[in-house]
Amino acid sequence: MTEGHERIHLSIANVAEEEAQSMLRALSSGWVAPLGPEVDAFEVEVSSFVGRAHAVALSSGTAALQLAYKYAGVGFGGELVMPTLTFGATAFPAVYLGAKPVFLDVDPDSWTLDLNLLAGWLRERARAKRLPAAIVPVDLFGVPCQYNELVELASHYGVPLIADAAEALGAHVGNRRAGAFGDAAVLSFNGNKIMTTSGGGMYLTDSREAADKVRFWATQSREPFAWYEHAEIGYNFRMSNLLAALGRVQLQKLPSFVERRRQIRDLYKRTLGSVPGVTVLGDPAWGTSNGWLTTVLMDHERYPDGPDTVREALLRANIESRPIWKPLHAQPVFRGAESALTGVANRVFRDGLCLPSGSGLSDEQIHRVAAILTQSLAGIRP
Ligand SMILES: *Cc1c(COP(=O)(O)O)cnc(C)c1O
Repeated sequence: MTEGHERIHLSIANVAEEEAQSMLRALSSGWVAPLGPEVDAFEVEVSSFVGRAHAVALSSGTAALQLAYKYAGVGFGGELVMPTLTFGATAFPAVYLGAKPVFLDVDPDSWTLDLNLLAGWLRERARAKRLPAAIVPVDLFGVPCQYNELVELASHYGVPLIADAAEALGAHVGNRRAGAFGDAAVLSFNGNKIMTTSGGGMYLTDSREAADKVRFWATQSREPFAWYEHAEIGYNFRMSNLLAALGRVQLQKLPSFVERRRQIRDLYKRTLGSVPGVTVLGDPAWGTSNGWLTTVLMDHERYPDGPDTVREALLRANIESRPIWKPLHAQPVFRGAESALTGVANRVFRDGLCLPSGSGLSDEQIHRVAAILTQSLAGIRP
């Protein structure tokens, strides 16, 4: 049953004629390769937008994380500490390198790393002389982490800080943008992120040495010889020039995407504000979200099966919504991994839902989503 309405997606790429023209120009220029002038320009534009000295355009956010971890010295038997509430791609690259993720719970208000928990865990690990190879905070759903405190903690223990800002391009902490914090940060331009290259990612750092090394590894570790000379194992992780041409146009539109996504979140907040037991996640006390995905929590006592009921009702109306990321400590593939939990991530997974948030959605569509959510919850109100 579609009720005669077009499908409403969770978060769909917002691309138009300008993107097509830009890609065609790149195609006609002859630079049909991973590398080229569009890639160079895209790197300069993203680094200047975020406020970083260097950027390396890569084939995905996952690839960017892998090289960021590798540069931080993560290797066989190493450990990375990260939030349990995130996409699997935060942890997978640790495993590619033979390392082990350790999962910590999140703060109930921002759903980012619980800093008290992290501080206690680091103190114990320092005492046992078993500090991790890196700390990996995640800006979940576009909500930036408490970076000032994180940077201080990481430098106190001398542990590299690698920010997974894949979901947060355009978010702020103070006057600095997500992606500007830590030894390195990673962005994703996957199709469903706030801006896209259809698939792609970016490694960001202020260290020239780090950027050069990551660029070298990503280009098959090709040494400067006429023939292909290799002193190290390489990766084919560079971004294609055609996709960078797409990304450059998207980056120009990013401020308007952020503005629209935040408007959508605020519209949900206003419309759902009067529904008892329903909370729309807002900005954290220390910064502003880019509004990538609007998320709601439904009080478990009042609506025991709230998220499932709402998701199914939306689906019947041809509207896509999605559960919160399933915590990684509860994923079959990470069974047995070390974790430190408070129950927040489990509760957010149980009670939360991601609502359609694409920057192309109209107010009327948001009202429709909110109305269906409200009606379906009214049906299970005790
Ligand atoms: C999307 C995402 C990634 C991975 O980026 P890809 O470009 O899809 O490889 C990593 N971490 C988080 C939190 C993400 O949302």
